Amino acid sequence: MTRTIDTLGKAARHGMILRAECGCGNLRYYRCSDLASVLGGGRDPRSVKFRCEACRPKVKVTVLELDRDRMPKITVWKPDTAGGNLKWRPEQLK
Ligand SMILES: [Zn+2]
Repeated sequence: MTRTIDTLGKAARHGMILRAECGCGNLRYYRCSDLASVLGGGRDPRSVKFRCEACRPKVKVTVLELDRDRMPKITVWKPDTAGGNLKWRPEQLK
């Protein structure tokens, strides 16, 4: 199944997850809805820049569609803007 997801807004409406994957094996997951609220729904997910804290090469970005009946056990990084500062906190995906 291929569907063109060219904005974070579309990905958010489909409840998708963004996977940022570094060549060293470092992985982080984000809810597209969280990224859309922080970066704007018109942003192309592939244009979002992630850096690996370990080695800082280019990070590969993939947008994932989830089966709600078989949710993967992953940690998503959620934006927290309390206090006016944006911080990303890990949270178990439910
Ligand atoms: Zn890395």
